[in-house]
Amino acid sequence: MYNLFRWKNDDGSSTRKKNALKRLKNSLNGSEMTKRFSGYLQNDAHEFMNICLDQMKEEVQEALGEKSEDIAAKVCPVVRNFEGSLRKYIKCKGCKDVVTKDELFNHLSLNIPHNQSRSPTKVQLTRLLGRFFQAEELERSCEKCKCATAVQYLKIRTLPRVIILHLLRSEFDQYRGTQEKNSHRIQVDRFLEIGSFCSSDISGPPPFVPKKTSHV
Ligand SMILES: [Zn+2]
Repeated sequence: MYNLFRWKNDDGSSTRKKNALKRLKNSLNGSEMTKRFSGYLQNDAHEFMNICLDQMKEEVQEALGEKSEDIAAKVCPVVRNFEGSLRKYIKCKGCKDVVTKDELFNHLSLNIPHNQSRSPTKVQLTRLLGRFFQAEELERSCEKCKCATAVQYLKIRTLPRVIILHLLRSEFDQYRGTQEKNSHRIQVDRFLEIGSFCSSDISGPPPFVPKKTSHV
């Protein structure tokens, strides 16, 4: 994987890139989940990436053996670079009591609004993020006041160093009864303003400390 990133924008030999990609595919363990990537059928790139990240995380944990998960988190490149946490808030509409729950994430899957015109139009990435973090009403009986409705919303509690954003382009066409690809073009601004999606006690990723190399 390291070599693939290194050679990504390299104009050099394409055979070198092909071989690196083959080696990456072959390094996946032989579980049922990874077997379908062994052939040459078209597969979901995001799923492939998730399997690679999960496997890397497991291998770091195994290599550390009995050591605690805290130590693994400090040295694991997957955790250090891609893992953050989301805080889910459930606020009772009656007594305003708030219940929270933190969950780890290594990507955010963003729904793209249904394209009614059928011709590709442009949607801003910040709008998709806004929809992801938008509050929604849900039915939930409050233990304190017995109110039956609550509002649920998410905030980023811990920022990863790199946020992976997954665009969900597949949508169900209720008239045709088939899965269709959403053709909206996504406008990615140079800077993403995410302050309003973060909790007030937000914390950042672990500091980046480049390895000292010896020049002998
Ligand atoms: Zn309540």
